[in-house]
Amino acid sequence: MKYQFPVIRTMNPKVKPDESKLGFGNYFTDHMFVLDYNAEQGWHGGRIVPYGKLVLPPAARVFHYGQEMFEGMKAYRRENDIPVIFRADKHIERAQDANVRMCIPDIETELIVDAVNQLVDVDKDWIPSAEGTALYIRPFIIATEPKLSVGPSVSYIFAIILSPVGSYYDEGIAPASVYVETEYIRSVLGGPGYVKVGANCANTFLPVKNATSMGYNQVLWLDAKSRKYVEEIGNANAFFVIDGEVFTPPLAGTVLPGITRDSAITLLRDFGYYIREEQIAIEDIYRLHAEGRVQEVFSTGTSVTVSPVGKITWKDKEIVINNGEMGPVAKRLYNELSGIHTGKIEDTHGWIQPIK
Ligand SMILES: *Cc1c(COP(=O)(O)O)cnc(C)c1O
Repeated sequence: MKYQFPVIRTMNPKVKPDESKLGFGNYFTDHMFVLDYNAEQGWHGGRIVPYGKLVLPPAARVFHYGQEMFEGMKAYRRENDIPVIFRADKHIERAQDANVRMCIPDIETELIVDAVNQLVDVDKDWIPSAEGTALYIRPFIIATEPKLSVGPSVSYIFAIILSPVGSYYDEGIAPASVYVETEYIRSVLGGPGYVKVGANCANTFLPVKNATSMGYNQVLWLDAKSRKYVEEIGNANAFFVIDGEVFTPPLAGTVLPGITRDSAITLLRDFGYYIREEQIAIEDIYRLHAEGRVQEVFSTGTSVTVSPVGKITWKDKEIVINNGEMGPVAKRLYNELSGIHTGKIEDTHGWIQPIK
């Protein structure tokens, strides 16, 4: 370990929440990591302190122009009680891509790795152990310079907070009812849709609100140019099992390169499936469904792992996928990934990284 950060421990440890009622992102642990940036010192002053408020000037650029980025990864409790993180290296690599796109100064990868490891170690008693639970790790960077001209900040805060989480959806892994959005878009080629930044999310709130008010759980996003091709489902990558082959949209600049997506592709290949990273037209999904050839639809992401889709509605026409039930491919993938997370299944890909 290259960096050893000072730790100020809380004098008031919190009562830990009931593991059966965690939900997603509702509770935060006792500590957080904070690191500052300014032009003179670069990134400096890394420290672990009690979880608490960040105090910023109202003119801080993040409040006005949204210059920020975030990541999301998970730590799991294993039987030997040594905490592990799933593919931390890949998440940190992706964080660097967001920094580049958002004009945020580069942070040394090793510093982020050491910060994540040390913070999780300090709060390791917060890693829940119940089935389906984990400790969600949320690194993020915000622009702090108090200046209202539109442009990149000269100062930043990088922080990491931790949240014990259960299943992302309140319904557990009950199949989602999905609304195909034909008016609004999530991402456009040339925009920041391929990195994790707040702007991508705020942009989706109105269409998601519309869809949930109509009773759907999620929005299926189509491409910005032609509104023809499937891009993602909510904040998760989309998969379709058609004629026994697995289709997923390619990473061509508009789809977020999910690490669960990458893991899913690897595991599905291990299972012997043929994976097609190809554009899929929603019209073709409907046509193939009518011919009885669409076996499963599901989405993948760190927060959901694998989330089945039970119904899709496009232009007022609803189709039911696999009788509205989670299908065998999604189930096997979910079990395999969860097994690797918890240690019940051997990690043959070097994805499990014990904290140092
Ligand atoms: C985070 C995210 C995903 C999933 O990425 P993972 O690395 O698997 O968690 C997919 N789509 C969007 C838009 C996301 O923000």
